[in-house]
Amino acid sequence: MYFIANWKMHGNTKDIERSNSILKLSKLKKYKNHKIIYCPPYTLLKDFYNKVKKSRISIGAQNCHANSDFGPFTGSINSKLIKSTGAKYVIIGHSDNRNQGDNDKNINNKIKSALNENLKVIFCVGEKLNEKKKNLTYSILKKQIVKGLDKINNFENIIIAYEPVWSIGTGLVPKSSELKKNINSIKKILSLLRKSKKINILYGGSVSPDNAKDLLEMVNINGFLVGGASLNAKKFIDIIKKSIN
Ligand code: PEP
Repeated sequence: MYFIANWKMHGNTKDIERSNSILKLSKLKKYKNHKIIYCPPYTLLKDFYNKVKKSRISIGAQNCHANSDFGPFTGSINSKLIKSTGAKYVIIGHSDNRNQGDNDKNINNKIKSALNENLKVIFCVGEKLNEKKKNLTYSILKKQIVKGLDKINNFENIIIAYEPVWSIGTGLVPKSSELKKNINSIKKILSLLRKSKKINILYGGSVSPDNAKDLLEMVNINGFLVGGASLNAKKFIDIIKKSIN
């Protein structure tokens, strides 16, 4: 199981201390085989890595530039720079970034550049509310996955996070039947691409200690991408504890 904390644009150096209780938890035998990954803002990657480097916790970035080479891209961070901080993962295709101009082609280039640097990719896909209402979810997922993974053959380092956009930060989660259907769609799309074997699929969108267990009972997934609740160490721990019995 994966438990990925997406801190979005939150956190200063002192907030890294919030991982203390998770560090303790990650040492317990029961949690040893599970993956806990913190994705703080770029500014905290190095310090966070130094804090957890002797533990089983890993660090990831929340985005990267599509260009692997260094160059005149003011304000951008590429996968080489991310790698140099000690981070092992990067979130790509998050709806926050799709909303700010990321498209399938750009996302495909970002994924390729991250894989070239041996980073593991947390590839986010998901439909918006209006797309769901128009019954377009399957075709949106198919477009995002097929285009996002175009000409990529190494799938070992890719994790898919299914994040319905209408569920992110809203407190809403899909109904059981809906979640099953959409996760099965993702599996089907991956098998059409003959790339299904090694890809883990996570769910993200308003995951909380109150719904984590129910979500896992609804469908066979490999963990959660957690936004808001991961900023609160107690809530994040409770999500992990409720998910693993
Ligand atoms: C996210 O931003 O990836 C996310 C899942 O957020 P939240 O858990 O707050 O809905």
